[in-house]
Amino acid sequence: MSGQALDVVVVGSINVDLRLDVAAIPRSGETILARGMQRAAGGKGANQAAAAARLGRRVAMVGAVGDDDAAALVLRRLAAEGVDTATVAREPGSTGTAIVLWERPESTIVVHAGANAAVTAEMVRERAETLRRARAVLCQLETPVEALGAVVATAPGLTILNPAPAQGPLPHDLLARFDLIVPNRFELGNLAGAPDEPRTLAEVEAAARSIGSGADWVVTLGDDGSLVVPGDGGDAVHVPALPVDAVDTTGAGDSFCAGLVDALLDGAPLLEAARWATRVAAVTTTRHGAMDSLPRRDEIPEAAG
Ligand code: ADP
Repeated sequence: MSGQALDVVVVGSINVDLRLDVAAIPRSGETILARGMQRAAGGKGANQAAAAARLGRRVAMVGAVGDDDAAALVLRRLAAEGVDTATVAREPGSTGTAIVLWERPESTIVVHAGANAAVTAEMVRERAETLRRARAVLCQLETPVEALGAVVATAPGLTILNPAPAQGPLPHDLLARFDLIVPNRFELGNLAGAPDEPRTLAEVEAAARSIGSGADWVVTLGDDGSLVVPGDGGDAVHVPALPVDAVDTTGAGDSFCAGLVDALLDGAPLLEAARWATRVAAVTTTRHGAMDSLPRRDEIPEAAG
């Protein structure tokens, strides 16, 4: 894809997920037997890249894998999803690894960064030409936070931050340089430095506004849907989730982010983009796995009414 315009560049993590099907999360010191195991490509960055590619977008990934067997597995999978991996670095050592304890339908996850730690500001600057070709750049927090400043300094198009997993408050002037920030409820509370996560819609809106970055916010609320909080001070609008039979919510947030970018690239207003993302994410929750569960455009249900 060298030289051609890209819809989306994802600067983020690439992991191998070891997904263990458990009846319950073990208590501290306890050993339990898993009912099943899967090893598959994952990571918030890779999932969001694959999700956008499945929606038909031209996607490139800026990230890093190790020199182990997991690297071949994840690169093969990203390529099969249609994601350009030419700007993925190969680093000595292990590919990022996530232990996913899947306690239907939720998961509890522990991530080891491995090669993802190499996604630094320097690496982003080395790949500036790729970022400049992108209409949108999507970042998360599974790679070093220090790279985000280089991303917003380089990317000419739409910049979107999914501040996951929670890393504590981020510098105000960094958040202010993103166009759109998409945390879940917990990540929002964490970003706001609040002792408890915001519960009611009013608390969610107040938390997003308290950070006051000037960016637009879409806060995801699991099966409560999401809250769109425009950065221009316009009214917050609640978007309910689709009533579906959720079996596995892994990847819901990632597909939601990809759905948002997809609609915004088509010129949709933010609220309309959130409604589209809600439908994309709803399909994801009705299927098993992370990348496996991501829908293609023709699998997304028509809007009701
Ligand atoms: P994360 O996975 O990042 O914690 P959420 O759990 O908030 O993100 O989910 C992201 C989006 O996925 C939600 O805003 C909602 O639209 C959709 N979603 C999540 N869980 C469900 C569910 N049980 N039923 C329907 N939609 C869901």
